[in-house]
Amino acid sequence: MPQQFQNLIHGLWCDSSSGQTFENRNPANWKELLGTFPLSTKEDVDRAAAAALTAYRSWRLVPAPERGDILRRTGEIMVRRKDELAEIMTREMGKPLTETRGDVQEGIDTAFYCATEGRRLFGINTPSELRNKLNLSFRVPIGVCGLITPWNFPMAIPTWNLFPGLVAGNTFVFKPAEDTPQTANVLVEILMEAGLPAGCVNIVHGAGSTVGVAITEHPDILAVSFTGSTETGRIVAQNCGKQTKHVCLEMGGKNAQIVMNDADLELALEGVLWGAFGTTGQRCTATSRLILHEAIHDEMVERLTKAAAKLRLGNGLHSTTDVGPVINEKQRKNIEKYVKIGKDEGAKRVLGGEVAGGRAGSTDLRDGWFYQPTIFTGVTPTMRIAKEEIFGPVLSVLKCRSLEEAIEINNSVIYGLSSSIYTRDVNAAMRAVRDIEAGITYINSATIGAEAHMPFGGVKATGNGHREGGWAVFDFYTEWKSVYIDYSGKLQRAQIDNS
Ligand code: ADP
Repeated sequence: MPQQFQNLIHGLWCDSSSGQTFENRNPANWKELLGTFPLSTKEDVDRAAAAALTAYRSWRLVPAPERGDILRRTGEIMVRRKDELAEIMTREMGKPLTETRGDVQEGIDTAFYCATEGRRLFGINTPSELRNKLNLSFRVPIGVCGLITPWNFPMAIPTWNLFPGLVAGNTFVFKPAEDTPQTANVLVEILMEAGLPAGCVNIVHGAGSTVGVAITEHPDILAVSFTGSTETGRIVAQNCGKQTKHVCLEMGGKNAQIVMNDADLELALEGVLWGAFGTTGQRCTATSRLILHEAIHDEMVERLTKAAAKLRLGNGLHSTTDVGPVINEKQRKNIEKYVKIGKDEGAKRVLGGEVAGGRAGSTDLRDGWFYQPTIFTGVTPTMRIAKEEIFGPVLSVLKCRSLEEAIEINNSVIYGLSSSIYTRDVNAAMRAVRDIEAGITYINSATIGAEAHMPFGGVKATGNGHREGGWAVFDFYTEWKSVYIDYSGKLQRAQIDNS
């Protein structure tokens, strides 16, 4: 019998009111059933929201430094259980252990960062325009928040939201992705072990179309944070908009790495290998376009193709694996669709372009959702493979003649999450920082590598103006309260008595 996992509502593990379950399988070997999870309903979300509201009434009164202490203990437990957590994540998500350890580490960094924010959460005080009067403004929690997460960073993305949200005094109804439910359960288990009161984080598993929608429509859930596809993000925004809920959207990307003619090509090569094929290209910040200056184009393509051909596909639990499987059949079909589009558009396939077969050690690649690292050259900015997010190990190579053209190509897509430029020319680097339309720009480094204490998010169609990570996330998880204290002992009218 596979292990049966449950929802967590008001500190108690429980089944769904539907009595139904869904399966969690290993993408590297879909014959391996990891467990079953509740296929929850709107009623389960109602119960979770009621628990979160009850918990909020006392959690908001706990001093923020005390709330931070719980996160510090959470971080300490995560440090102790890091390898175990990474293994659970690799089994259900597929990326190699080095990467899942990194994913857990990001959660640990966020825990310690947010623990210390409990002693800051700075307000802003300004002078009053009247005598004998004091003005203060400070951050207050919002209330019950909804959190809807994807599968590509099963630990990091939930922690980016839960930890700052909790330290600021909010409570949560959390719906993790259907493909990575176990990591989410272990995370809330750890929060409870660290002393988080019952009801502060409630977890409801199930489909986006039922549980996700119920979260966006529940009147007591006042803010929703969503990370996922642009298509779903738009639905989330529309649903939240009907009740004027706060909503933080982190959606698609079509990130480019630019390599200029004066770049350190070896460094640029390492960067694009990691950016394009790390996490099997399934990061929001993955490098899906490589914009090469014409002077180094042919040499770079040759070196890149040779190096990418050596990447070893396999089960992420094996130390010899460089690239794991993609997450599921739907995602692999989507990659196949885009590879066909690329061929039909006239791009030249110089590597990959097929479902992976054969064996990798004891792993039969045909039992998992493996896809070969794929490179297209001769791509032009108007092709669909240059414009649309693929979310897989597929890289489109474009050619440019100048920095201006490289930046123009970079900016020609609707998205604006991450970006990177390799050059030794400080003037070119600074112009790129100024002119590239993206929330994140790396100089001489790959498009991936966000740090927990820096703002994370994108411009244009990638997001809706909010940021996760660092101090900026508190702008989403708090409201401002303005306070006027008049100690003059008489009625003082602003704008009237002092004019
Ligand atoms: P993916 O293509 O990775 O499944 P999605 O954007 O569809 O990306 O999913 C991201 C998260 O959003 C998942 O937890 C999913 O269950 C949830 N989700 C899907 N559809 C909806 C919806 N209509 N409303 C709210 N959440 C949804």
